[in-house]
Amino acid sequence: MKVNYKPVLTRFFSDPNSHRLNFYLQNGGYKQAKRVLTEMKPEEVIDFIKKSNLRGRGGAGFSTGMKWSFIPKNLGKDIYLVCNADESEPGTFKDRILIENDPHALIEGIIIASYAIGAKKSFIYIRGEFVEQYKILNNAIQESYVSGYLGKNVCGTNYSLDIILHRGAGAYICGEETALLSSLEGKRGYPRIKPPFPAIKGLYESPTIVNNVETLVTVKHIFENGIEWFTSIGTPKSPGPKLYCLSGHVKKPGLYELPLGMQLKDLVFDYGGGVKNDLRVKGVIPGGSSSGVLKDDELDIIMDFESLMAKGMILGTASVIVLNENVCMVDALWNIARFYHHESCGQCTPCREGSGWIEKLLERIERGHGTKDDLKIMSEIAKNMVGRTICVLADALAIPVEHFVKRYFNEFEAHILHKGCPNRQLAASNT
Ligand code: SF4
Repeated sequence: MKVNYKPVLTRFFSDPNSHRLNFYLQNGGYKQAKRVLTEMKPEEVIDFIKKSNLRGRGGAGFSTGMKWSFIPKNLGKDIYLVCNADESEPGTFKDRILIENDPHALIEGIIIASYAIGAKKSFIYIRGEFVEQYKILNNAIQESYVSGYLGKNVCGTNYSLDIILHRGAGAYICGEETALLSSLEGKRGYPRIKPPFPAIKGLYESPTIVNNVETLVTVKHIFENGIEWFTSIGTPKSPGPKLYCLSGHVKKPGLYELPLGMQLKDLVFDYGGGVKNDLRVKGVIPGGSSSGVLKDDELDIIMDFESLMAKGMILGTASVIVLNENVCMVDALWNIARFYHHESCGQCTPCREGSGWIEKLLERIERGHGTKDDLKIMSEIAKNMVGRTICVLADALAIPVEHFVKRYFNEFEAHILHKGCPNRQLAASNT
């Protein structure tokens, strides 16, 4: 069933000038930043966002206002706001599209957030592969400086803010906030042990808040439309609009702005148009490659943080990947394992070695050399990866391993019994 919802974050995306400052100003741009800077104290801004119950849109779903409130006062150190635009979770393309179409909304969100936490310098860490988006954002930042929305006396107030746009070099792990900070400091992109959390000891050992692109854009819209608007959308614990990325074997892939708490089935069938060539759904990855997988009879799940957690999964980036009935689930999981093994930074043994062994075992099973013990060994390895590493990249592989094997056990077993992928063997025998 389609829901009655009018897009807000993406409402101007069909206009070819939506990324331009003039267009932004004509549509109320920078009014909220000005209002916040002239009428509100920083702590009031934090309270406002706390009351909205905005949860971070980067994957973890932590309360944004709460995160801002962790910044210690009067430490005598510089405070930084860092925007994480290193979007690289497979299946996720929302931040890229936000930057392309509405870079000034991101800048306005950064101004509001920076003011709230007391930052005078902000960084945007943008994924290296986002060449066009870098140009668009860089241009928007320049436009903002020239027009007095950045630099000294932002919007004619006493508040000053600089934004530095920094390009990453294409490492997935630099999307993890502490690895991102290491990379921003010019070091190898290694995640750091937490605590201390970045709010206490972040960039250059100073208090730092790292927020995702969609989170910061949403901040601007909460100020524009009010807390009541925001909390009237979604579910009580997961309020607000969300950008869902729909991809895979679906008829109408794309970016959909809808309330949090949509039914997965509605996303796939009513918005995505169902599976291409009218094939059956075999599985749906609900929130990016690390989130797990659901079978076709589980698609009535609500897409919010709590419902997926109850299944031992994560909402992640709400990036829905649809797999049709012809997909070999061993091959699909092997693909995921290859990715995480390649992207492991190598600091922790369970992640570095575990992801390598899982990849090898899956290759062996898919190629027809698997043994009966392989599934047990793989599950043991995955179990030993969870919660034992510096960052959650190890979990990001262990979660899909658990859910793919649990839900498609017969298919994994059939690969071992028939010495290879039954689908491929069937296809070969038909030619
Ligand atoms: Fe690096 Fe993996 Fe350890 Fe994360 S879990 S720090 S990616 S080795």
